[in-house]
Amino acid sequence: MRITQSIAHEYKMARAQAIAAAEARREAAYAALPRLRAIDAQKRSIAFALGPKLRDAEDPQALRAEAEQAIATLDAEAARLLADNGIAPETLAPQFRCPQCEDTGFIGPERRMCACLRKRLLREEYASSGFAPEACFERFNPDIYPDEAQRRRSLRAKEICEAYAQALCFNGAKGLLLMGDVGLGKTFLLDCIGQRALAQGYSVQKYTAYNLLDRMLRGMREREGGLSAAGLATPELLLIDDLGTEPFIPNVTYEVLFSAVNERQNAGKATVIATNLGKAQLLEDYGERLFSRITSPRLFSVIELKGKSLR
Ligand SMILES: [Zn+2]
Repeated sequence: MRITQSIAHEYKMARAQAIAAAEARREAAYAALPRLRAIDAQKRSIAFALGPKLRDAEDPQALRAEAEQAIATLDAEAARLLADNGIAPETLAPQFRCPQCEDTGFIGPERRMCACLRKRLLREEYASSGFAPEACFERFNPDIYPDEAQRRRSLRAKEICEAYAQALCFNGAKGLLLMGDVGLGKTFLLDCIGQRALAQGYSVQKYTAYNLLDRMLRGMREREGGLSAAGLATPELLLIDDLGTEPFIPNVTYEVLFSAVNERQNAGKATVIATNLGKAQLLEDYGERLFSRITSPRLFSVIELKGKSLR
């Protein structure tokens, strides 16, 4: 996961704000309690003077212990002063969003990425991936189905999708084809797969067939902003929604989709396709070559959702 400029900036600002707010609270405390300012100044001067003294000291350890003792005494006085005036000492320290990394995003001298930053990057990926934020397997609700048969079928479909999202393959097939009429929850399952795969650390890209065609046509016409079949092979998981709703351009639509699927299969990458079309329609619209690629059990697991629309 890449740390974008804007996320790096967000962390820098959060940390700077936490520190500035703590300084403002300390200034206010100094204004109310002049003795507190004097204590802090004394502590600083003890620490500051210690360095040169240690250099020519006969017994540096004793000197260090003496300084530590003096600072501890001052700390105790400051704590009493704060307590007497009803000020919680932690309010004078910066209140970081994440106490683990103190809003730097990294932990320790080896600069390990903090869990908060990893979560933040995931959220960014979700936001730019085009997934519905509420689509996740945990929110799959089996009670929304009108009858028992549809409920069972949908639950089974969800189980297959969940297993697929864990390993990016099912029964050895790297592809998954979700078929069914409008309103049976295909896009929801597609987004659930995408979210789970992202959370597992896979790279994921989602397009509607319409966008995919549009971006690839642009890629052929111009270099910038377009997409190539090779570029499509990059993410570990590619989700294509709404196959069949893209414009049909003779000699183009079919070639673009075929090269996308072919490139992914050659690269050994996982692809999930959702479509409202039935098998007969798929065969008629896309021809034998592409049809066999996306329905062959060796390459694609096929799920057919049936029942009444949930919309
Ligand atoms: Zn953190």
